[in-house]
Amino acid sequence: MTTRLACDVLVVGGGSGGSVVAGRLAAESDARVTLVEAGPDYGARTSGLWPADLLDGGALVTSHEWGYDSGPIAGREPIAFQRARVIGGCSSHNGCVVAVGCPEDYDRWAALTGDARWSAVSVRPALARALERMRVRTYAESEVGPFHRACLDAAASLGVVRADDLDDLDGGIGFGIEPVNIEEGVRFNASFAYVDPARGRDNLTILDRAICDRVIVKGRRVEVTVLRGGEELRIAAGTVVLAAGAYGTPAILQRSGVGDPALLHGAGIEPLVDLPGVGRNLHDHPLAEVEFASSEQLKRLLAESAAIRFTPEEQTLGKLRSSRASGPYDLHVFPVAAHEHSLLAGRVALAVSAMEPLSRGSLHVTGVDPEDVPRIDHGYLSDPGGADLAVIDEGIAWARELAAAESLRELIGPEITPSLDRPVSEYHAHYFHPVGTCAMGVESDPFAVCDGAGHVRGLESVLVADCSLMPVIPRANTNLPAVLVGELITDAILG
Ligand SMILES: Cc1cc2nc3c(=O)[nH]c(=O)nc-3n(C[C@H](O)[C@H](O)[C@H](O)COP(=O)(O)OP(=O)(O)OC[C@H]3O[C@@H](n4cnc5c(N)ncnc54)[C@H](O)[C@@H]3O)c2cc1C
Repeated sequence: MTTRLACDVLVVGGGSGGSVVAGRLAAESDARVTLVEAGPDYGARTSGLWPADLLDGGALVTSHEWGYDSGPIAGREPIAFQRARVIGGCSSHNGCVVAVGCPEDYDRWAALTGDARWSAVSVRPALARALERMRVRTYAESEVGPFHRACLDAAASLGVVRADDLDDLDGGIGFGIEPVNIEEGVRFNASFAYVDPARGRDNLTILDRAICDRVIVKGRRVEVTVLRGGEELRIAAGTVVLAAGAYGTPAILQRSGVGDPALLHGAGIEPLVDLPGVGRNLHDHPLAEVEFASSEQLKRLLAESAAIRFTPEEQTLGKLRSSRASGPYDLHVFPVAAHEHSLLAGRVALAVSAMEPLSRGSLHVTGVDPEDVPRIDHGYLSDPGGADLAVIDEGIAWARELAAAESLRELIGPEITPSLDRPVSEYHAHYFHPVGTCAMGVESDPFAVCDGAGHVRGLESVLVADCSLMPVIPRANTNLPAVLVGELITDAILG
């Protein structure tokens, strides 16, 4: 059975970018907005329906997973690519660390798109708005737990400058206390920030547990097919905003016949719009962990701390500069004393990530079923000059120095992984920040999928508003930048 619905703006995906677009358009215009989200909508923050793990901002979540991975890789275990299937998207299960990158990141987006609205100067007001709406604040000194206090002391003993505000866009290297979107221990996700204020308005409809299959363009109208509870919905809309994330958005376009014709044929899909960039340019920050045994003293101190204060697994972070950096910094090093029930499974580690990666990969659907897992090849550490690996190696060397500093040496046991001679390619992971698969760019760029206002080339009524739009990853964790993309695409739609 097929049910037909209609609206003015259909937003696909209620994650970090999509929550902004749907919430703001519903609150700031009379447009009839429909938000389609594949996962559950647990309602407003105050609904009492939210599962405890999604609310706990102190640990990474293991539930509500899409279940993507790399598939078999020679010489190592497959790499899991975590993505949340729930309203709020990955902002509902992430680490809540807030980073904004540096001016060079946004000026590069402006240069690549020829669109000044992405320049560092232009994005500052929207960035400030996003930080405020996401309730971002830096932990006070008194909130820092014993492990992270020792890390601050260790970094100082190595002569690293103390960063007072890691979210100063103009800030350089430094080690400091993390800014977070956690309020009274609760992960303050993008749905709380943007959808909640619009809930109850007549012009907002939320269809949860509804998966978008594909988009059909009919002249100036667009029709979107959605599967929900065994039923097919056909939703006609004036504008469709795809915000299904860096894996979901290119997959929807490919199922709709938009992409590289040869690859679409291979997946049994009739090519309709030749846009070879769809699914290409996939990249992320590669990450390697140096893991240590926990001492009895650290276990006791963490337990004592948890008894008197919120003790999250992450609280401090260093922005550092390798010998390959093109700008103010190109490394994140952050300590983790993970909770047992966390995705990080109780590990005590120093994580190192290359923040200016050159390696690129791709994503392609393998068939027409929207529940099929696409083929995701991140191409981590594959850049021909080996720069990404070299940057990680420099970061690991620094992390080992940090671990050897007196204040930390007392708390952590010996390094348990990696063994010194193990190649990074065998054990690296990632920072959970995929971007770039429907990149915006200038018209002359054959691999640009969207223009600077987010319109998919050749499908003017279809826009993109999530991490897939980013042509190059910022030197930042990507949640706040995704919210920023949502803010700027909403501004463009509102005119
Ligand atoms: C484990 C983890 C930890 C992280 N930690 C941090 C951190 O500490 N700080 C930080 O800044 N960033 C962090 N990130 C990254 C950050 O959260 C993401 O980059 C950001 O949330 C992505 O936003 P988005 O809008 O692009 O996509 P998402 O937030 O993933 O939203 C996409 C939404 O679309 C829905 N969807 C997908 N396909 C369909 C479909 N076909 N039909 C309908 N709906 C669909 C999904 O269910 C999802 O709700 C983390 C990510 C993960 C996974």
